[in-house]
Amino acid sequence: MIRGKLLAAGVSSVFVLSGAIAGTARAQDKAQAPPKKLAIRAGRLIDGKSDTPIANALILVEGDKIVSVTAGGSAPAGVTLIDLSKATVLPGFVDTHTHVLLQGDITEEEYDAQLLKESIPYRAILAARNARIALEHGFTTIRDLETEGAMYADVDVKKAIANGEVPGPRMQVSTRAMTPTGMYPLLDYSWELKVPTGVQYVDGADGARKAVREQVMYGADWIKYYSDRHYHFEADGVLHSMVNFTDEEAKAIVDETHRLGKKAAAHAIGSDGIAAALRAGVDTVEHGDGLTDALIEELVRKGVYWVPTIIVGAYVAPGRGGNWAKMVDLEKTAFQKALKKNVKIALGTDAGGFDWKELNEAKEFEYYVNYGMTPMQAIRSGTVVAAELLGWSDKIGTIESGKWADIVAVSGDPLGDITELQRVKFVLKGGAVFKNEVH
Ligand SMILES: [Zn+2]
Repeated sequence: MIRGKLLAAGVSSVFVLSGAIAGTARAQDKAQAPPKKLAIRAGRLIDGKSDTPIANALILVEGDKIVSVTAGGSAPAGVTLIDLSKATVLPGFVDTHTHVLLQGDITEEEYDAQLLKESIPYRAILAARNARIALEHGFTTIRDLETEGAMYADVDVKKAIANGEVPGPRMQVSTRAMTPTGMYPLLDYSWELKVPTGVQYVDGADGARKAVREQVMYGADWIKYYSDRHYHFEADGVLHSMVNFTDEEAKAIVDETHRLGKKAAAHAIGSDGIAAALRAGVDTVEHGDGLTDALIEELVRKGVYWVPTIIVGAYVAPGRGGNWAKMVDLEKTAFQKALKKNVKIALGTDAGGFDWKELNEAKEFEYYVNYGMTPMQAIRSGTVVAAELLGWSDKIGTIESGKWADIVAVSGDPLGDITELQRVKFVLKGGAVFKNEVH
């Protein structure tokens, strides 16, 4: 304990010394320049809290935060006014399931080629491009759910964005994800070849705890593991799967994650994988196609979030064949049941599982409305509910005083036509205008 404290003190004094030399001039500049002020006139404001839009709202931004939201009112003198009076203004969108380091993997060959023929630096360059695409589409925050063999490069992408080196959304990252040995590609190569692996192989409860500690040490905000594989229908009509970890291993992963103050996400498609993830105590279930009535009840009882990623299932199904088309239909039924039972459904797309350049992540909103959500419910799923999942309810997800100024706008009315969200015309992130095409 004492040794730990001494080390901590040593580290902070080094920081103060180097900061004192390099930072003095900048600190003085900052002290002299008051925070930049902006006013936004919103023709229609969907603030993420109220069920009805506010007409002719005025949002005041100071620095990177929202300081006030009023119906009507006029901008204070000398403050830059952004006129969005003909547009609908919303909180920045949140995608809780992305892979910035992946460029689509409908087939096994596409996946393997990325890991075998592209270096991690090359993949990180593409990731920076993907982050920019996400921001252009109005996603001001993402949770990136594993690098697919690109080690800890998500931590670097997050850092470059946070430091303002490249544009992109705010990120929470999960680094390498986990399965037991041999349960995730690359597989089926000659045993004489040493090929890369899409996850970190982890075995035994002690191995699980060590892997969690390692990933957190290198910057993981979340721990992600693959609860199952081999999805198949059985005579009972339920989508079943093979569970990857023993209960003891999965519980060790989740327990260690929570002990370190982080949260755990499980890829779980078949009913067996979902049940195992819920027994282990995960915070979020990813995909969840095989949710049964009993499992839906359990999600509700445990307050676990469901991230359906419908867009990716529909996108890969034709190319993959087999059960995939049937799984899309099954998920639609599960979605409608979960919606009735008030499951916490957070918007997530699995972008990267499809080519970032080909599909707009915001199409996920359209699926939710087609599957039975009201447009307002769909919007909340991709803003305020997603913010709760991330533990950032005090920072993002609504447009109100004290939150980060992450604001988007579209020309039409998304409550009448949800596809409007696929045509974002204005993006403000942390008080800085990234895009403004509102005329
Ligand atoms: Zn994924």
